[in-house]
Amino acid sequence: MPIKRIYLLVKAYPEKSKKHGSSICTAGLTTEGEWIRVYPIDLSYYSINKDMLKKWNLIEADVREASEKLKRKESHKIIEHSIKLVDDSLTKISTSKLKKQKIWDDRNQIILPHLNKSIKELDELKSKDHTSLGIIKPKKYQFKIRKKIDEIEVIKSNFIQKTLDGYKVNIPDQIEKTFSYKFRCDDPLCKGHDMICEDWELFEAFRSWKKKYTSPTELEKKLREKFDTNMKKRDLYFIVGTTSLFGTWVIIGLYYPPKSKNKLLLEF
Ligand SMILES: [Zn+2]
Repeated sequence: MPIKRIYLLVKAYPEKSKKHGSSICTAGLTTEGEWIRVYPIDLSYYSINKDMLKKWNLIEADVREASEKLKRKESHKIIEHSIKLVDDSLTKISTSKLKKQKIWDDRNQIILPHLNKSIKELDELKSKDHTSLGIIKPKKYQFKIRKKIDEIEVIKSNFIQKTLDGYKVNIPDQIEKTFSYKFRCDDPLCKGHDMICEDWELFEAFRSWKKKYTSPTELEKKLREKFDTNMKKRDLYFIVGTTSLFGTWVIIGLYYPPKSKNKLLLEF
C-alpha cells in the first residue's frame, strides 16, 4: 500500500453518508506535488485526532486508490490508524511579521504552482483524465446567498455517535448548500459562473453566527463582510473539486493569502 505525505488543504464539512456513516473527506497536495482526496475519516476518529488533521499539517498515511463510479483520479481511501503527523510548521500563522511572511511564502510555493487557468481548462482535464481537483483565481467575484437568510435550512442533528473507546461525538448540524460565488475566470472567453461554495469555515461561521446574531440582517452583513469585503483585501483563490454523485465543480475551500507585494510569485 503506498505511503503518501500530504499537506491537508481542504476539509469538507462532515456529512452523513449511507456508505461511510458520518465522516470527513479531505483534499490536499502530496509532497510529490499531486492533488489527492482522501476519505473516509470517521467523525469520531476526527474528533479525537483534530490536532493531527488541521489544515496545512503535513501528514503521512497509507492510502489506496478508491473505486468510484466517476473514477475521480485523485480519490483515495485512507487507512485511519496509519495517519501520522510529520510537520506542522505551516499550520499556525506566527505573530512575528517576518515568520508570518515566511509561512505565507512557503504555503504559496506549495499551492500556487498548481494554479489552473479556468474552469474551462479544468473541464477539459476532467474529460481527458478524470481530473477532479484544482485551484483557480477568480478575476471578479461576488459572494452570494441564494436564499433569504432566515429560510436557509439547518437540520439540527441530535445524533450522537459513540466510538469504541466510549467517546461521544456530536454530529454537526447539516446546513443547506445555498452559498455560492459568482465569478469570472482569468480567461477572456469566460462567460461567468455561479458556483456553490462548501467551504467548512463558511458553514461554521453561518452555524455559530446564527446563534449569535438573532437579526437576519446582521447575520447577512457579517457573512458578506467576511466572505466578500474582507476577501477582497486579500488574494482569494478557489480550491474546487467535483462532486462524487454528478461530477459538477463546486468550491470546496477558500485560500486567501495576504495580497502579495511580490507579484513574481504568481508568475510561475
Ligand atoms: Zn470561467
